[in-house]
Amino acid sequence: MNLQQRDKAAIWHPFTPLKSSPEPIPIVKGEGALLIDEVGNQYIDAVSSWWVNLHGHAHPYIAEKIYRQALTLEQVIFAGFTHLPAIELAERLLPHLPGPFSKLFYSDNGSTSTEVALKMALQYWWNKEKQPKTKILAFTNSYHGDTFGSMSVSDRGVFTKAFHELLFDVVFIDTPEPGNMAQNKAIIEAHAGSIAAFIYEPLVQGAGGMKMYDAGLMDELLSFVKTHNILCIADEVMTGFYRTGRFFASEYLGQKPDIICLSKGLTGGTMALGVTAVTQPVIDAFTTDDSMKTFFHGHSFTANPLACTAALASLDLLEKPECHRQITAIVEQNNLFVQQLRASAGSLPVKNIRQLGTIVAMEIAKGKDEYLNTVSARATQQALKAGVYLRPLGNTMYMMPPYCIVPAQLSRIYEVINSILRNA
Ligand SMILES: *Cc1c(COP(=O)(O)O)cnc(C)c1O
Repeated sequence: MNLQQRDKAAIWHPFTPLKSSPEPIPIVKGEGALLIDEVGNQYIDAVSSWWVNLHGHAHPYIAEKIYRQALTLEQVIFAGFTHLPAIELAERLLPHLPGPFSKLFYSDNGSTSTEVALKMALQYWWNKEKQPKTKILAFTNSYHGDTFGSMSVSDRGVFTKAFHELLFDVVFIDTPEPGNMAQNKAIIEAHAGSIAAFIYEPLVQGAGGMKMYDAGLMDELLSFVKTHNILCIADEVMTGFYRTGRFFASEYLGQKPDIICLSKGLTGGTMALGVTAVTQPVIDAFTTDDSMKTFFHGHSFTANPLACTAALASLDLLEKPECHRQITAIVEQNNLFVQQLRASAGSLPVKNIRQLGTIVAMEIAKGKDEYLNTVSARATQQALKAGVYLRPLGNTMYMMPPYCIVPAQLSRIYEVINSILRNA
């Protein structure tokens, strides 16, 4: 049997219909922005392998660091023990975070980082108040992960439909627009007494279709939320580590979060790791003689030394001026592409062309605006034939390349997007 047949016989893939999906492509090697399959075809990874990769695949510097750490200490229980990679990562990450964060809590992925944030926020009020607040405020169209808590605060849509009866109650508002500020404030006011926390993806809603919204209005909303004594949780699992052109999307905002969630790019996209960082008031609510007020949460691989080492190596690379030059170059080249696309939009089936930093997105104006739009599968196949990996979210076409991508590879992605639009 070849690899595809062996895969088909034994494996169930994420977000993939078991019937009638194209065969998965066996990838045998990654190098820079390229993925290479078993017969030697090369694909430019225009979506950073589900938004995780920052510096390119199989990066020798990160690989070497992981290898050396694996020969030293691969894993140790993180209750009652600690280790240098976890300490160093916390010390180096905290000063970069957008706001006065004082400690961080490790987990394994993006969903657990938001799950931890929600549990911390709810227990914060349980620890502090006789009648704790128990509701969460979230945006419609949001995505915070696939575990039950993170699903509960995500949009009620195709991803969560089978579980709607089982998800906890959430107060949903739309992302801020000039026309809905008054309504949003009225909703918040009506529930303010019971809302423990507000969770949001700052400025870009990723899985919901790379929807972007205004920083000024968001600041107004956040300051309103804060006057009602609601903890703010920024889910920067996707937007972190310069995807939006700044280290964190929260840097575009004056109002800073009380809790921040990180994963995906945290390790440069090499290993699974999650971080939930908190400010001092949260720490204070858990610093007590009452052992019932302990945060009883942890994962077997909490703060895995290999993953922490990968994150440190990725930070080394991120802090280099060369990396900043690359990010700036991507932002500028994207900007030109967006201008050209807007200029030719009249003759192409495309709408809502938008950009924030290294992310460019648009809707293919064909069929309904929804995740189940079949234009996605066709576009992916067409792009693959042209040597580019794109994976539209329904009819939302987007790109989010690794920072090591070179100008010619970016141009190739733009060409392929143009050609998909021409054939849509
Ligand atoms: C991907 C994502 C998550 C979930 O992360 P996983 O590592 O896939 O569990 C949570 N929040 C946001 C904003 C994401 O983009």
